[in-house]
Amino acid sequence: MNFVIREKPLKLLWLEALLRRLHEGDSELRYYSEQFRRLYAGFAGEQRVDREWDEIICPNTFFVLHNIVLENTAKHFHQVDTLFVCKYFILVVEIKNINGRLDFDGATYQCTRTKSDGTVEGFPNAITQIQRHMQFFKTFFKNYSFPIEGAVIFSNPSAIIANHPNTVPIFHVSGLQSHIQHLFTKYTKPVISDEQLTYFVQQIKARHQPQEVLSHIDSSRFRHGVLCPKCHYKKQMLFYRGIWKCVVCHYVSTEIFAEALLDYRLLVSRTITNSQLRAFFGIDSSDAALRLLRKFQFPSTGTTKNRVYHLPDNLIEFMKPFF
Ligand SMILES: [Zn+2]
Repeated sequence: MNFVIREKPLKLLWLEALLRRLHEGDSELRYYSEQFRRLYAGFAGEQRVDREWDEIICPNTFFVLHNIVLENTAKHFHQVDTLFVCKYFILVVEIKNINGRLDFDGATYQCTRTKSDGTVEGFPNAITQIQRHMQFFKTFFKNYSFPIEGAVIFSNPSAIIANHPNTVPIFHVSGLQSHIQHLFTKYTKPVISDEQLTYFVQQIKARHQPQEVLSHIDSSRFRHGVLCPKCHYKKQMLFYRGIWKCVVCHYVSTEIFAEALLDYRLLVSRTITNSQLRAFFGIDSSDAALRLLRKFQFPSTGTTKNRVYHLPDNLIEFMKPFF
């Protein structure tokens, strides 16, 4: 078995960084808070399903891939919550973390949610979403006679799955284990070898297109600097002799710089120069800024004077060994 840890989606990290820093009274604070709440609920639901994958007992090698984004021939994207790949079949999973009563109308393709207070609202139809993904994977693996299965999984125990067509299995997360076992009894002949399976997964990973956060917020709308976590990110910490210190609560830290630099990477730019570092983080001395930048051995381009430092994707992990 090979289990890939689910990472927080970039948009969620971006919203976290923004909400830490956005000025109180910003006209869009509520809008971003609501976006964060929805995305976070989705992520929490996916994590709940991940725990089930973790417990699957299976004698065969399988891979579980998360948040895979692939482009089809029409240049449209398929964002797949989870993909279960083994030698016998492929299972495409759409995860929904919503509560209330859910009705799927097979004739109109409409999906509605009825809340406990009786309000009814329309929802994107998870069945048609999964069918679209399944069709895509049929084309993606067209040279192999891979059975492509799909399932919609509800991660919120209080969701009530009401009317639905029998086109794609829909069930609560607690049914995942038995569904997988059922598929292993349905497909008993391997379609590919172990080596091909590994190659397949590599192919999928290579085609994965990490999503970019396209929104840009003017930097005048948020607090700059290394912010004090003990003061709820409201106070800027001062840099003195390699240590960040909060003048309000006297909290000191060196590692806190990694989190703040990640905020910078998410909200401002993936690159930084000595002068940009000084301006954003409130460091007076050019030499002190240079020492700080050199300490982490970021890849850089340009000459000494105009050197541009490139902040890697896995910034926090990258910086850890240097503290
Ligand atoms: Zn403080």
